[in-house]
Amino acid sequence: MLPAARSGSPSAMENRHPSPQALRAPRVSFVSLGCPKALVDSERIITRLRAEGYELVRSHSGADLAVVNTCGFLDSAQAESLAAIGQALNENGKVIVTGCMGAEPEKITARYPGVLAITGPQQYESVVAAVHRALPPRHDPFLDLLPPEGIKLTPRHYAYLKISEGCNNRCSFCIIPKLRGNLISRPAADVLREAERLIAAGVKELLVISQDTSAYGTDIDYAASAWNGREVRAKFLDLARALGELGAWVRLHYVYPYPHVDEVVPLMAEGKVLPYLDIPFQHAAPAVLRRMKRPAAQEKTLQRIARWREICPDLTIRSTFIVGFPGESEEDFRCLLDWLDAAELDRVGCFRYEPVAGALANELAAAVPDTVKEERWHRFMGHQQAISARRLKRMVGTRQQVIIDEVHTGARSRSDTAGAGATVAKGRTRGDAPQIDGSVHVASRRPLRRGEIATVRIERADEYDLHGTVVGF
Ligand code: SF4
Repeated sequence: MLPAARSGSPSAMENRHPSPQALRAPRVSFVSLGCPKALVDSERIITRLRAEGYELVRSHSGADLAVVNTCGFLDSAQAESLAAIGQALNENGKVIVTGCMGAEPEKITARYPGVLAITGPQQYESVVAAVHRALPPRHDPFLDLLPPEGIKLTPRHYAYLKISEGCNNRCSFCIIPKLRGNLISRPAADVLREAERLIAAGVKELLVISQDTSAYGTDIDYAASAWNGREVRAKFLDLARALGELGAWVRLHYVYPYPHVDEVVPLMAEGKVLPYLDIPFQHAAPAVLRRMKRPAAQEKTLQRIARWREICPDLTIRSTFIVGFPGESEEDFRCLLDWLDAAELDRVGCFRYEPVAGALANELAAAVPDTVKEERWHRFMGHQQAISARRLKRMVGTRQQVIIDEVHTGARSRSDTAGAGATVAKGRTRGDAPQIDGSVHVASRRPLRRGEIATVRIERADEYDLHGTVVGF
């Protein structure tokens, strides 16, 4: 129910003929750069601003103020962040900067002394306070109702669920612990309540993220918290099991290869969480892993991967690697290629090493020349492409559950196998994460909806993607 209008008070009288500008909500444009963790930070800031009555607009020129959430992980990401700040200043003039680069404000002010405020990563309150100072809110709680799930920057049917901030590891190439601090885990009940809200709002797939998902809860002694009349410990396995009860797809990202990861694989075999593990192995040569300050037991890891696949034959393993790390010899690189042959990972990304300012790795050994990095990157990609294509081919002839991401109505199917008027849509199997893995190109007689999960018979595979026809819902 709306409150009765107050009449006669001085403020009501003064505001009887407000200017058109005062009638509309203050407008903010928002640029979100960087990884999914930064995206979650952006969603929190935007959710808060929307709750306070700010309107989000697409263009800087149509906004009263611009916010840029930066990424500072690699030098190339910093350059992209600086370019985004420059663009926002040109097009709008009033700019607030936040995110990882905010941890080194001098780099920003040296180039752009005119930015209004700079705040660091996860400083939601400071960003919002800076917005208030530059552009006071016009809050009307009866008009500015916030959907209970908050504002998502991802499509409505999937959402990132951040379970902790920071990291206790000290990988020598990484400055994230310097920027974001040590691990701080959220209580399990807090995470589960957010997951429930998201699912109630239509989310079908939860992407669990953090800097190191398998370390979840180690900083708070796995403390239990009350959720739906029972206690749930802040432990990787317990949280995965509880999330798996909610009826949505649950995908685990950024899992460090600790031994206790083995425990979650049976949950995958039972269908409680998706049979998908995103483990950034980074390298395989023991000498390189030691310099990276990462676990260097890759032989044992091969045995564990084989065991995981015995327990859960559908398991998809995604990973990322770095080539051209300081001191990486040709022999180390060949060791990595051999390890890839033995591991047969499904999905793999590869970065050329970049000497991030402040990273210990730069001082550990001689830099690999750029031409060698480039050559190794191409060899790596060619090598893994053949392995990934082989793994994908094994899916031809199988039936897969596919979540629909995009629908192209009116288009004819590729082979017209589904008959006249077939809908062509794009989706993902349980083994494909959004934005980083492959897609399934889907033909269907019946129209499909975004977020719907259909059973698709896989008919063809190419290097990265699958093609098939809907055979059930
Ligand atoms: S696990 Fe290593 S690479 Fe990942 S955030 Fe922590 S220190 Fe950085």
